[in-house]
Amino acid sequence: MPMLAMRIARPKVLIDLRRIADLDYLREEEGIIAIGAMASKRSAEDSDMIKDRQPLFHAATKLIGHRQIRNRGSVGGSFAHADPSSEYPAVALVLDMQMKAIGPAGERLIPADEFFVTYMTTSLEASEILTEVRMPVLPEGTGWAIQEFARRNGDLALAGVALTLRLDKGLCHQVRMAAFGVNPTAVRLSAGEAALEGQAPSTAAFARAAAAAADALDEPMSCIHAPGEYRRHLVKTLAERCLVEAAGRAH
Ligand SMILES: Cc1cc2nc3c(=O)[nH]c(=O)nc-3n(C[C@H](O)[C@H](O)[C@H](O)COP(=O)(O)OP(=O)(O)OC[C@H]3O[C@@H](n4cnc5c(N)ncnc54)[C@H](O)[C@@H]3O)c2cc1C
Repeated sequence: MPMLAMRIARPKVLIDLRRIADLDYLREEEGIIAIGAMASKRSAEDSDMIKDRQPLFHAATKLIGHRQIRNRGSVGGSFAHADPSSEYPAVALVLDMQMKAIGPAGERLIPADEFFVTYMTTSLEASEILTEVRMPVLPEGTGWAIQEFARRNGDLALAGVALTLRLDKGLCHQVRMAAFGVNPTAVRLSAGEAALEGQAPSTAAFARAAAAAADALDEPMSCIHAPGEYRRHLVKTLAERCLVEAAGRAH
C-alpha cells in the first residue's frame, strides 16, 4: 500500500491475499516460531507467545509505525516490502530468520542474508509469494536490544540497531548486531561483533565495539533529514546503548 500511495508502483494487476485465512497464524513448533505472512503486526504485538519466546521480534514489532499501522499491516508485507528503514530485516539478520516462499516451482526456504537484496528488493521471484517467516525461540539467558532514532514517534527510523549477545564465564560471546536505515538494506555490523567477542562487558568495551561497527559502515545513506555521517553517528550511539541494555538482560 505505501508503494501505491507514493505512486512508486503502478501495477496492472493487484492481488489481495488478506482473505487467505491459512496464511494468518502464529505458532511455535519444536523451538521455531512460525508466523504466517498475512498475520497482522498487531497480532504479533498482542501474542504472549511472541513476547515470552522471542522478545526481540516483539520489541521490533512495537516500534513499527503506530498501532493503527500495525493493525492493518501484515508481518509478511513488511518483509516483502524490504524498506531499508524497517526494523524487521535487521532483526531477521540478527536472528538468522528464514522466509518460506511458494511459487510454480514449489516451496523453498530463503535465509535472511539472501532474502533482502537491496532497496525495497527481495530475492522472491515475480511468480512467488511469501507464505511464512520463521525464527528460533530466543535461547534462555540471551541478552537482546533494539533501539532506533526517528524524527517523530511512529516515523520510519533514520537509523536503528538490533542485537543479541550471550555472557559465558563473564565474557561476551555470540554477539550479533545489525543496523537499519543506513544502507539500501539492513546490514550486519560484523566489525562491532568481532570487537566484542570474548571481551568482558564494560562501558569501554561497548564503546569500542560500537565505534568499530559505525566506522566500518559503507557510505551511510543521505537524505534531507539526515546526512550519511549523522546516520553513522546514530549507529555508534544506538549500538552502545543497545549493548548496555542487552548485557543487562543476559545471564
Ligand atoms: C505512517 C507509517 C509509518 C510506518 N512506519 C513503519 C516503521 O516504522 N517500520 C516499518 O517496518 N514499516 C513502517 N510502515 C510500513 C508498514 O509497516 C506496512 O505495514 C508495511 O509496508 C507492509 O504493509 P502491508 O502489510 O499492507 O503490505 P503491502 O503494502 O500490501 O505490501 C508491501 C509490498 O510487499 C508485497 N507483498 C505483501 N505481502 C506479500 C506476500 N505475502 N508475498 C509476496 N509479496 C508480498 C506487495 O506486493 C508490496 O510490494 C509505516 C507505514 C506508514 C503508513
